[in-house]
Amino acid sequence: MIPVPVKYIKKNNEIQIPENINYKENQALGSEAYKITVNANGAFVEYSDHRGKIWADQTLKSITKNGKISECEIYDYPKYHHRGLNFDVSRHFFSVEEVKKVLDMMSMLKMNVLHWHLSDDQGFRIESFKYPDLQKESIDYYTQEQIRDIVNYAEERGIEVVPEIDMPGHTRAILAARPDLSCTKRKLKPGKDAGIYKRIFCAGNEAVYTFIEELFDEILPLFKSNRFHIGGDEAPKAMWKTCPLCNAKLKELSLNNMQELQGYFGGRVTDILKKHGKRPIMWNDALVGNKVSKDAQIQYWTPSYNRQTVEFAKAGGEWIFSDMHEVYLDYPYSMTGLKKMYEMVMDFADEGGFESYPPIGMEACLWTERVDSDEKLEERLLPRLFALAELSWSGRVSTYEEFEERCKEEAERFSQIGYTVKDQAWWNPKGEEAKLEAEAFMKSMSTGCIEEDPEEMANWEEEQAEEGKNNYAADQKYKERFLSMWGSDPSDGQL
Ligand SMILES: [Zn+2]
Repeated sequence: MIPVPVKYIKKNNEIQIPENINYKENQALGSEAYKITVNANGAFVEYSDHRGKIWADQTLKSITKNGKISECEIYDYPKYHHRGLNFDVSRHFFSVEEVKKVLDMMSMLKMNVLHWHLSDDQGFRIESFKYPDLQKESIDYYTQEQIRDIVNYAEERGIEVVPEIDMPGHTRAILAARPDLSCTKRKLKPGKDAGIYKRIFCAGNEAVYTFIEELFDEILPLFKSNRFHIGGDEAPKAMWKTCPLCNAKLKELSLNNMQELQGYFGGRVTDILKKHGKRPIMWNDALVGNKVSKDAQIQYWTPSYNRQTVEFAKAGGEWIFSDMHEVYLDYPYSMTGLKKMYEMVMDFADEGGFESYPPIGMEACLWTERVDSDEKLEERLLPRLFALAELSWSGRVSTYEEFEERCKEEAERFSQIGYTVKDQAWWNPKGEEAKLEAEAFMKSMSTGCIEEDPEEMANWEEEQAEEGKNNYAADQKYKERFLSMWGSDPSDGQL
């Protein structure tokens, strides 16, 4: 079973699964907890809350075989209360049916947060009546009715939907509809390629804040979560540096540099969210501006800003573990294999302190630049999501070998109900073919900048150095990971 319950005593005799299960609410069990007793008298469930009841049902389902169930006693509760999946529907769009299929998958694994990445350079996926050009430029999108339906569907399965509209960077799809909101005001199309785009929201133009306010007025009520992800990652400042409005704002606020202007931008958006009673989440790049409110939650994806993340955590800030080297599921199995994932290193890369300042949870990230079909999507998730689900619910409770045996059973169960699971031969791929795949992937990542702005990459490197980016920790971690898998250092030779 995945994830393994905290306590599970299984007896040898089986009974027919009773038609009626006896449910009893018991809030004293604690958040998301449940107890199951199966004996000759029937099946008895105690649950603490809405989610506890759903998780109990999922457990009952997974231990029922051919209508029979072993007598047992189970007591179960999660290690972390944020067990998430970031699902990017901007780079490639996925249907309502597929989103629901992913939600079903998550619920079976007792995962409780769908971080829905709805806006990026390549597409804005929310219907807006106020700004219909947004969906016109992006073509594929979810209607407001579909979004409400998905939020309800998720809630019925114990899952909170946390939407993300990434800003001020990764906004090219929005700027395609509203070119007046960028520094240059040039008319563009949404992006096609993977990478980092230079054109971002202008932080000095008040019309940008008005747009965000009006857009939020319209779309925030679609979501029930009290959290909202505003991105804040990978925002090149090249355009801000030459923009009269951005420079005027810098002067008006007596800020030292454009990183602090991004801090100001994040603060303004945070204030808009607060009016709606929502709490912001941001990627850990956003910490560079030193203005992140303590109410915000930080999602740690890049060790490049590990030091800033540790400082935030030390000051009592809440953070989510999403280290790209450990839980990015757009990476091929040759980069992040199942064993690697189950044995992942949870730390701050060089900075220590993880045990003293633990995260509120863990979240896998499924970016979809290179994922263009439902089958590919499911293969990237299964079985690797099993590892994330177990580590975030139970912790690492077994050896990899034992975990892999359980993965095989779960893979069978998920395949039977129509999921595409990665072929077992590729769970931990070895050999030249796999090594070439890993190298090619790393190469495609490192040349990830944009067709029409060839000068951009140099600029970006320079800026990150200015921001105090800790390249050493990031590079070191990536080299060690590659070395341990392939016995070679990717910085040698071509890479
Ligand atoms: Zn500007």
